[in-house]
Amino acid sequence: MSFFSSLVPDRKFEKYSDVTPEFLASEGISALLIDIDNTLAPYEQAEPDDTHFGWLKRLRESGVSCALISNNKPPRVERFARELGIPAYADCKKPKTEFLRRALAGLGVPPWRAAILGDQIFTDCLAARRLGMKAYIVPPIKDKKTLFFRFKRLLEKPFLRAGK
Ligand SMILES: [Mg+2]
Repeated sequence: MSFFSSLVPDRKFEKYSDVTPEFLASEGISALLIDIDNTLAPYEQAEPDDTHFGWLKRLRESGVSCALISNNKPPRVERFARELGIPAYADCKKPKTEFLRRALAGLGVPPWRAAILGDQIFTDCLAARRLGMKAYIVPPIKDKKTLFFRFKRLLEKPFLRAGK
C-alpha cells in the first residue's frame, strides 16, 4: 500500500449517525473505535445528547462493540464514557497506536474486524491503517478556526477527495 493510499479513508459519511449496524455488518465489522471531538460532538459540547444514546444503542443491540478513543484530556473523555456506558481511552496520541491496541484487546476484537470513526486524516485514518483497521471519516462538526487547523485541513483534501 502506498503512502498516499494509506491515508485515503475506506468510506466517508456525512455524519457519525450515518454509520449503521447494517453497513458495519456488510463490512464484517464488529467493533467501532470512535473519536469524540468534531466526530461525535463539537469541542464546546460537554456531554452526550439523545442522538448519541440512540445511535450507540442500535449499534450495541446489533452486536457491535464500541469504545471511545480520543486525544483529548481525561475529564472530557471520561464524562462521555460514563454517560454513554462504554469504555474510553483519553490522551490516545493518535496516530500512535498503543491505546487503540489496548481498546481492541479490551473489546476482544482483532483489528481486521474493527474500524475507526473519526474526522481527521493524519490522526484517525492513519492510526487505523497502521493497525490494519478500516477507517471511516466524517467532516468535522465545527472546526477550530486557527491557522494551524486550516492548514491541516488543506493538507487532508487530496486524501478525502480520493475516498468513497
Ligand atoms: Mg476529532
